[in-house]
Amino acid sequence: AKGNGRGRAEIFDQALRTELEIRAQLESDIRSGLAGDEFELHYQPVMSVATGSLRSYEALIRWRHPQRGMVPPNEFIPTAEESPLICEIGRWVLARATQQLAAWTRQDPDSHGDVTMAVNISARHLASPSLVEEVRDALHVSGLDARRLVLEITETVLLDEPTADAHLRDLRALGVTVSLDDFGTGYTSIGQLQKLQIDTLKIDQSFLRSDDPATQALVRLMVTAAHAFNLDVVAEGVETQEQLDRLVTIGCELAQGYYLGRPKPAQDTEIAVS
Ligand code: C2E
Ligand code: CA
Ligand code: CA
Ligand code: CA
Repeated sequence: AKGNGRGRAEIFDQALRTELEIRAQLESDIRSGLAGDEFELHYQPVMSVATGSLRSYEALIRWRHPQRGMVPPNEFIPTAEESPLICEIGRWVLARATQQLAAWTRQDPDSHGDVTMAVNISARHLASPSLVEEVRDALHVSGLDARRLVLEITETVLLDEPTADAHLRDLRALGVTVSLDDFGTGYTSIGQLQKLQIDTLKIDQSFLRSDDPATQALVRLMVTAAHAFNLDVVAEGVETQEQLDRLVTIGCELAQGYYLGRPKPAQDTEIAVS
């Protein structure tokens, strides 16, 4: 039994070491990726359900890895979030996305003047002492008005994190919009929405997938409550006309999804101008 126990410990030890090595490798790859300009942003439109007009873009990061090809965020953001690297990535995304919207606006003020840019901000980055300054810098350098920047956060950020809360307050005071991402997947209840430092609610795409009447009723309830609390609502993951029709019925005013537009590089967006 003794030998058996030691064997297991060794296997565990080896597995842990492998896990740590893989993570260390990925972190060093991300670092060189940042230095080598291997990251890029794709932009997905958020549309007004009633008018079909463009309301916003969400910036979504991609990694053009020299060996692995195009790497989706789910394969490196979770690891990056466990280290200060996520703050470096976040800074880069903020700078790039604000500059892109400013450029589109200069090129085509008529169709872009009111459009906003949404950027995903991780919990660690939101809590970092320099975040507010970084946002101010990005706005200053790009020349973009604060009202045209949306920061998307997930609710994990809001759980007992006084620093994050203070930062959200400062950012909103600047005029920046705060959006709660993936709503309905975590612990935040509809009643708590009233007390949060947010302006917009994004209903997670899993809710739109379901044809179950109870789920539909829940979506309706979320939209009604959000409106009562003066929040805008974006439905995520719209893939069919039927889902879009349902949103009209429910009174959800904004939508995002493959049916309305896939994330694309800047040069491929529909209203890109040369
Ligand atoms: P998210 O913020 O919830 O972003 C929406 C994800 O859903 C995107 O995946 C988008 O491509 C995808 N999506 C949009 N419409 C549809 C649809 O109709 N059907 C389906 N099946 N999917 C749709 P993506 O780009 O792979 O990003 C995944 C996640 O990675 C994001 O989820 C976000 O949490 C994270 N992420 C992406 N970019 C960044 C970033 O710049 N910074 C940080 N911190 N996280 C990011
Ligand atoms: Ca998002
Ligand atoms: Ca989301
Ligand atoms: Ca998500």
